Amino acid sequence: RVLMNPPGARCHHLYASTPGKVAPARAVFARHYDLRVIDLHAHSTASDGTEPPAQVVACAVEAGLTTLALTDHDTTLGWDEATAAARRHGIRLVPGIEVSCSRRHQSIHLLAYLPDPTHPDLVAELERALHSRDTRLDAMVAKMAADGIPVTIEEVRAQVEPGATPGRPHIADALVASGVIGHRDEAFARWLGGRSPYYVEHYAPDPVRAVEIVRAAGGVPVIAHPRSVNRGRVVSDELIEEMAAAGLVGIEVDHRDHPADAVAHLADLARVLGLVATGSSDYHGTGKLNRIGERTTSPAALEVIEALGTGT
Ligand code: AMP
Ligand code: FE
Ligand code: FE
Ligand code: ZN
Repeated sequence: RVLMNPPGARCHHLYASTPGKVAPARAVFARHYDLRVIDLHAHSTASDGTEPPAQVVACAVEAGLTTLALTDHDTTLGWDEATAAARRHGIRLVPGIEVSCSRRHQSIHLLAYLPDPTHPDLVAELERALHSRDTRLDAMVAKMAADGIPVTIEEVRAQVEPGATPGRPHIADALVASGVIGHRDEAFARWLGGRSPYYVEHYAPDPVRAVEIVRAAGGVPVIAHPRSVNRGRVVSDELIEEMAAAGLVGIEVDHRDHPADAVAHLADLARVLGLVATGSSDYHGTGKLNRIGERTTSPAALEVIEALGTGT
């Protein structure tokens, strides 16, 4: 396997260097032996991914995936386009949302698969988060500009697709577009991190309430990357237990931000709590190094998720 993407590669995935050879062979093999290849966490331009939903699906196909979940932050905006693209390509698209949650200033991400996108409580929470993210974008950019960082709110807004969920990555994208920095990462390291003086929080529901709302909407809640080492504090086992008591269905165990010992620990925790273990890429196009399909979920875990998901 060649893991690097060649310069100018259209897609940012595992098999980008040999798209014409390896991936189709892998897909034929997979179909023949019913070896489904499942990635349940990916972002598009509906939030902070860099590719439109249909292109994310095309990349998944090229990487040899048979099932992809689109899980943009706090929105269902990309669902229709992704579903139509998946139908054209003959792969399964699981509609999802990565719900931003927060407790005592800690940010927690909750994946929600197959919820009813019209459920009033869910819609209300997503709208509230979106509105707060908007205000917060203004506040962060104002602080940065006041301190002499060359960025304007107009430049940042130009990076956000109409109706999409705005976030810190779009501030980074504006700085990349105007040549101030070379990549999103740089903006996060210098200005956008959780401990930066420019950081401003946005409204997000408590994770236990979010689990309850997702279940009420017929969705399947799975906690995203709880042991990510890149996001400040990790999520405590106690909070995961509390969420499990409220109806959490799974833990995203396999994720590139999890060190090997964390993967082992979370796999144990999932077993003890009777939760499903998933693995996924958290693909963001060229916005992050994560390659689509770099981590995967077992068909058995997907079956549990699809059996419990009644919202869509
Ligand atoms: P926000 O939801 O607006 O607070 O922004 C958080 C998002 O920023 C996460 O979902 C990540 O996709 C993205 N992010 C965090 N750190 C980095 C980084 N170092 N490089 C690129 N993207 C990042
Ligand atoms: Fe993101
Ligand atoms: Fe996340
Ligand atoms: Zn994500």
